[in-house]
Amino acid sequence: MKYCEMSPEQLAAERASLQSRYDELKAMGLKLNMARGVLSAEQLELTHGMLNILSTKEDCFAEAGTDCRNYGILDGLPEMKKIFADMLEVTTDCVIVGGNASLNLMYDTVARNMLYGTEDVKEPWAGKKIKFLCPVPGYDRHFAICESLGIEMINVPLNSDGPDMDMVEELVSKDDSIKGMWCVPKYANPTGDVYSDRVITRLASMKPAAKDFRIMWDNAYIVHSLYGEPAKQLNILDEVKKYGNDNMVYVFASTSKISFPGAGVAVMASSPQNIAAIKKVMTVQTIGHDKLNQLRHVRYFGSMDGIAEQMKRHAAIIAPKFRLVDRIFTERLGGLEIASWTKPEGGYFISLDVPEGCATKVYNMMSDLGVTLTPAGATYPYRRDPKDANLRIAPTFPPLDELEQACEALCLCVKIAAIDKHLA
Ligand code: PLP
Repeated sequence: MKYCEMSPEQLAAERASLQSRYDELKAMGLKLNMARGVLSAEQLELTHGMLNILSTKEDCFAEAGTDCRNYGILDGLPEMKKIFADMLEVTTDCVIVGGNASLNLMYDTVARNMLYGTEDVKEPWAGKKIKFLCPVPGYDRHFAICESLGIEMINVPLNSDGPDMDMVEELVSKDDSIKGMWCVPKYANPTGDVYSDRVITRLASMKPAAKDFRIMWDNAYIVHSLYGEPAKQLNILDEVKKYGNDNMVYVFASTSKISFPGAGVAVMASSPQNIAAIKKVMTVQTIGHDKLNQLRHVRYFGSMDGIAEQMKRHAAIIAPKFRLVDRIFTERLGGLEIASWTKPEGGYFISLDVPEGCATKVYNMMSDLGVTLTPAGATYPYRRDPKDANLRIAPTFPPLDELEQACEALCLCVKIAAIDKHLA
């Protein structure tokens, strides 16, 4: 029976029985974590063999004879660039290989524009009122970059096929202080949504009021499908060229969730003009990133096909976790009309919406039980979810039995919070 159809007495009885189960769980002193999208121990083992792939001196030489132990090569080993170019479906001259984190490349990209301006406009963003569009719910670390650099964030609703484009076009065409937009186009964090080709075309063909408007195209989950082949999408860098917007997009990705989150390889891609300007600044920042790690990745995976095979092995481990969460949510919350959640085909997260005003309460109740969730509000700029309704579920790290316990506890807390809201 739906809670909205229950009498106050029935609700109170249900509330009491849920509370006794909650008290039992609390007495168990759980210590579970569903907070961040990290690899499980089993997934880390998939790539462990990479660590001793360079054991002799001879192993350390790349194809062109480069001794990877030494200084040099600013934008990445050619063979690493080739793998990334194949992944991103671009040519190698559009690619810069970075260090171990794409987040670092993203921060540097925004900071560079703050300091020097974009390649074509060359007016630093710093010191001016700068705004970024943020599809919500979204990735907290994107928002943290903006917050830290004093960039005002504007929420744009994220629909199942991508950001609300009517709103994006309207805002971007009228306000030249809007200089950027965050996009996670495939298996978005936290909803798992995949942008449609129609949305990609609309983004690529925008006519922003700001000539230095830039899209931060964070394709962190480009090859991270859970069930079969990754979704096919239009290539944004090809699309922008059709509309004379060649310099409008920076693409980012990494092997964090292919090899090791702490020791993968990151990449960015953009127009030749952008790449040339970025390299000019990068030359001042570094002599080159870790080529030995690039070489390890090249030797271990061999090619994009090797990466695709690895992604199937990851999927075999994590897809059952996504299925488990969906099964428990369906069994415990289905039909009650108090919660809705996404059913991603890839990526690392599930987005759960609970009744308005209940997300913080659910988060706190879970913390009291010993289960760590991503804090309520984290999926919105400034940690402010206007409806206090969204929670990000990260199912990949815990083993299945712990995940099951955590999800059962979560459903219990959602029900209690929903009843309390009804009774209030
Ligand atoms: N982008 C998105 C959308 C993510 O969800 C994450 C990690 O969760 C990252 C970037 C971090 O990527 P990296 O490890 O390459 O810095």
